[in-house]
Amino acid sequence: MAGRLLLRTCTTTLRLRNNVVPRPLQRAMASEGGIPTDEEQATGLERRVLMSFKEGKDPYSILEPKYYSGTKEDPQIVPCTLDKRLVGCLCEEDNTAIVWFWLHEGGSQRCPSCGTHYKLAHFELPH
Ligand SMILES: [Zn+2]
Repeated sequence: MAGRLLLRTCTTTLRLRNNVVPRPLQRAMASEGGIPTDEEQATGLERRVLMSFKEGKDPYSILEPKYYSGTKEDPQIVPCTLDKRLVGCLCEEDNTAIVWFWLHEGGSQRCPSCGTHYKLAHFELPH
């Protein structure tokens, strides 16, 4: 303890004698001043998501899903990486059973129970 104190005192005295200004131990987070924005300090996956939002994409389905009425003109869009996907339709809000059916690429298909239209949309994975 005493040795460290003596060493620090000697070092400070030498710096002051030689007009050496000690540098601060920590640097400010924003080198140009101000508080950095989320885009400036984001890294990794968070940065990739923020860049995708700028392009108008939502690759990880973070945002609230868009509402589709389910009619023939406005079918439910089902994202898929292949040419078919298994879809479960909860036809009415209070139903306890789910109606499962295969949705194939092409035009829209109807749920066999309630008649809601579904359409497959090709989707590329972000990674
Ligand atoms: Zn249905």
